Amino acid sequence: MAATSVTLLGTAQDGGVPQPGCINECCMDPHGGVVRTRHPVALGVTDARGDRHLFEATRALSAQLSLWAAADGRQLNKLDSVWLTHGHLGHVEGLGQFGCEAWGIQNLALHCSKSMLDFVKANPMWRPLISDGHLSPNPFDTDVPVEIVPSLSVTPIQVPHRDEHTDTHAFLLAGENRRLLFLPDHDSWEMTLDIHGADDPRAWFRSLRADIVLLDGTFWSSSELGGKAGEIGHPPVKETLELLDNRRRGDPQIIFIHMNHSNPLHDEKSAESAHLRALGWEIGRQPMTFTI
Ligand SMILES: [Zn+2]
Ligand SMILES: [Zn+2]
Repeated sequence: MAATSVTLLGTAQDGGVPQPGCINECCMDPHGGVVRTRHPVALGVTDARGDRHLFEATRALSAQLSLWAAADGRQLNKLDSVWLTHGHLGHVEGLGQFGCEAWGIQNLALHCSKSMLDFVKANPMWRPLISDGHLSPNPFDTDVPVEIVPSLSVTPIQVPHRDEHTDTHAFLLAGENRRLLFLPDHDSWEMTLDIHGADDPRAWFRSLRADIVLLDGTFWSSSELGGKAGEIGHPPVKETLELLDNRRRGDPQIIFIHMNHSNPLHDEKSAESAHLRALGWEIGRQPMTFTI
């Protein structure tokens, strides 16, 4: 049986790169051109049966379906389910594309928490997605694995994150050979480790038996955004690296994703990127593919 493939279809935080309105060197070159294009984070998962599961519905849906098709060699209109971590902008902006104004897909399985489903149903723009049969809700329960095929299950893991609209989940994808944790957003290590009863990130990843971790790398440091980054949540990568230190034998592969446009990790040649790599960790690329 073929293994499951997981393709990272975007590496940016919700605003993407270039971020609208940014004229700094992270987004605009001296001639007014675009420095780089990075979509908001999403994953394309192709299971052993060839069914395809999209994690997050970003506004770059169309481009991400093309990237994914180039990576797994399948038709870009083959889609069997969509999974959502939470209700913040970059993770849900593309939902409307499934409706009658755009794709008009029928009966796409929507996997999300009950609070996320309530949020979709309460939104006048999204309600017809369900009432007109474009999306077919499959609410999940925290910590209860959902078996997609015998060689792939998904376990939603709750994490604390500005929960004003919906709760927030990470996903643990258990393949036949490896386990991948997808954690694009959380507020702080202190809170996340506290609710999961772990002393440090390494111990938590070990308790989940994660082999690959796609981890919240939104801000490099709390001084980013003129000091405002510290107020917005997300543990800065600098702090995460202090907790992790060097990669040790038995550690998972940790790949930082969900980078804000201002994060120097978007620049592969930055000193910050070199420091992170020297410790043995990785920075997400758009696209990159894992086999689990
Ligand atoms: Zn986000
Ligand atoms: Zn920028």
